[in-house]
Amino acid sequence: MDLADRDRRLTHAEGLVRELADRGVVAVATSFVDNSGISRVKSVPLDRLPALAAWGVGFSTAFDYFRFDDWVAAPPGGRAPIGDQRILPDLDRLVVLAAQPGWAWAPGDRYAQTGDPYPIDSRLLLTRLTDGLADRGIRVLSAIEIEWVVSYEGDEYLPAVAGPAYGLTRLANASDYGRDVLTALAEQGVAVEQFHPEYAAGQLELSVSPESPVHAADTSVLVRHTIRAVGARHGLRTSFSPKVDAAGVGNGGHVHLSLGRDERNLMASGSGPFGLTDEATAFAGGILEHLPALLAIGAPSVASYLRLVPQHWAGAYACWGLENREAALRMVTGSHGSEEWAANLEVKCFDLHANPYLMFAGLLATGTAGLDGGATLPDPVDVDPASLDDEALAARGIRRLPDNMREALDAFVADGVLASAFGEPLAGAIRAVRESELELFDGASPEEVAAASRWAH
Ligand code: GLU
Ligand code: MG
Repeated sequence: MDLADRDRRLTHAEGLVRELADRGVVAVATSFVDNSGISRVKSVPLDRLPALAAWGVGFSTAFDYFRFDDWVAAPPGGRAPIGDQRILPDLDRLVVLAAQPGWAWAPGDRYAQTGDPYPIDSRLLLTRLTDGLADRGIRVLSAIEIEWVVSYEGDEYLPAVAGPAYGLTRLANASDYGRDVLTALAEQGVAVEQFHPEYAAGQLELSVSPESPVHAADTSVLVRHTIRAVGARHGLRTSFSPKVDAAGVGNGGHVHLSLGRDERNLMASGSGPFGLTDEATAFAGGILEHLPALLAIGAPSVASYLRLVPQHWAGAYACWGLENREAALRMVTGSHGSEEWAANLEVKCFDLHANPYLMFAGLLATGTAGLDGGATLPDPVDVDPASLDDEALAARGIRRLPDNMREALDAFVADGVLASAFGEPLAGAIRAVRESELELFDGASPEEVAAASRWAH
């Protein structure tokens, strides 16, 4: 980022101010997602937008060490209070917030005061990894499904929408709220594909159209913020926690990915199983091989492992299979005739405590390593792995994914591909935050973990 870049940003922002004022905007917020998956924000009055765009606003460097409950798992050596980083909004992604009148929001990228990319910024990391694949002629399309629950106010979870799983009754009970969520998202230009009541009491789900990974991560942040804002206007609390209450069903954050080259979907136009091309196979093989380590990014909290259990459609086994909802990687082809636009790979084992930029960065880094190493996939699995005994699991090469964060973190620490893609400043901050959460919950019961994690994200 040099002075000419800053000038361009200033001019761009000056050109937006009049229209934003006409649309009633008085303040602009910009946020980044930290290593615990929490969005941290700064905002300015509208007339400061050009200055924000050109020079950013400061955050302490300690923010990369924030735990989900705001405890600072400080960087070593007494450096916690020292240093500054600047967040600059991505003006091309600026949105007037429909459920927060008077406000606009844009995702931010973080730079050091020198103007260099901040080494712990996950959005810039994901941009670099996506560009790396584009240089090889590969385009990634992706989306994150959002599952959440609505609760009456209070610290307990009190399901606010009654009715059976996937029940039409529940839709009637959520009618005005659901309309307001969909209206707000449409006004913000979010392309919603589906909305429905999920399994558990008070649980809902929404899916959106695929985009480039950075944009899909931005959309995931915006959709969650919008859902929360609409809920607040209805006097409801929102939780995206992987396990809202220890005895109930979890919220997933399933990720859909497809690869394209020229106009072809590489997950539909090959001669491999279900139409996979060699490149798509290698990419998926890379992800499958690194899944235990990726969990430290995609299922990043102690609460994540309360959700990630067999026979809950959470994908607790490291395997893949066609439309297999118990496989961590579910191959989706779509109906016959739709494969070219519908075929994709769903990563089921991740949840919404993940920083979506970091999560995609991990998937692209390990997928790219799969491409480089010519990774392959084992045979697809067409049964529930929980129905197989240990011998049958071993014979098919199916592993249970880590069932606790310690194991996932150990796999992450040992993973050379992620270490080199992320770099030590980022990997070290992730380790510090995860270790701190493990310490916080040492000896805690599932009920205590679920209660403490319920409302933070
Ligand atoms: N709620 C389940 C999960 O935790 C997913 C249900 C579904 O397949 O949509 O991932
Ligand atoms: Mg679902």
